[in-house]
Amino acid sequence: MAMAMPANGIRHRSDSPPTASTVPTPALRQVPSPNYGPRRDGLRPRLIVLHYTAMRSAVAAIERLCDAKAEVSAHYLIDAGGQITQLVAEEARAWHAGDGEWQGLDDINSRSIGIELDNRGTHPFCEPQMVALEDLMRGIMARWNISADGVIGHSDAAPGRKVDPGARFDWARLAHQGLARAPTKAPHDVTLSEEAFLQAAQAAGFTADASFEAILHATRLRFAPWRQGPLCIEDFAL
Ligand SMILES: [Zn+2]
Repeated sequence: MAMAMPANGIRHRSDSPPTASTVPTPALRQVPSPNYGPRRDGLRPRLIVLHYTAMRSAVAAIERLCDAKAEVSAHYLIDAGGQITQLVAEEARAWHAGDGEWQGLDDINSRSIGIELDNRGTHPFCEPQMVALEDLMRGIMARWNISADGVIGHSDAAPGRKVDPGARFDWARLAHQGLARAPTKAPHDVTLSEEAFLQAAQAAGFTADASFEAILHATRLRFAPWRQGPLCIEDFAL
């Protein structure tokens, strides 16, 4: 049977083609954690900190993030299937970052929204999980006016102490969508020394107190997780 067509031959559709923002994501689930407090001095979130859980399952991670004795939490956890669970209200200070510093600012918990990704750091992050993360981040960035520059990994703020979200996390994918900062090009006239590198890393935001080796490892985790060996010119692309 021929389909009924309007006189001008153009079929009108009430639904537009799906775009990134209209791809259905599972509904947000709420599992309130007791582990939160007020943000210091009325600070507002200006960072998003990404983590992996390093636990055997999302269920186990949620249990721990809601255990008052554990004294840890995050605003959100995303499981491998893309299910987002909110544990702490965005206005409140969740306990996910611990000691650390970024761009010369401490108390990262007072300045950030923390997102835990169900992953042990040893395997790639699943597609539905990444799609859900990107969708969640777009909303958070719009609500709090956070720029791509404000999206960091736990390891960026705590070099030498934390390595998550780890070498398997696809930062380039986020950068392509304006959801994280892409690395700069390495300058041509660079002095290949530890001091010069530490200066460049500090200028890029890696101001936490840590050894040269720890900072180099943290910057590579973020911008070039495949790179091994001694300091090279490409390490200045931060
Ligand atoms: Zn972490």
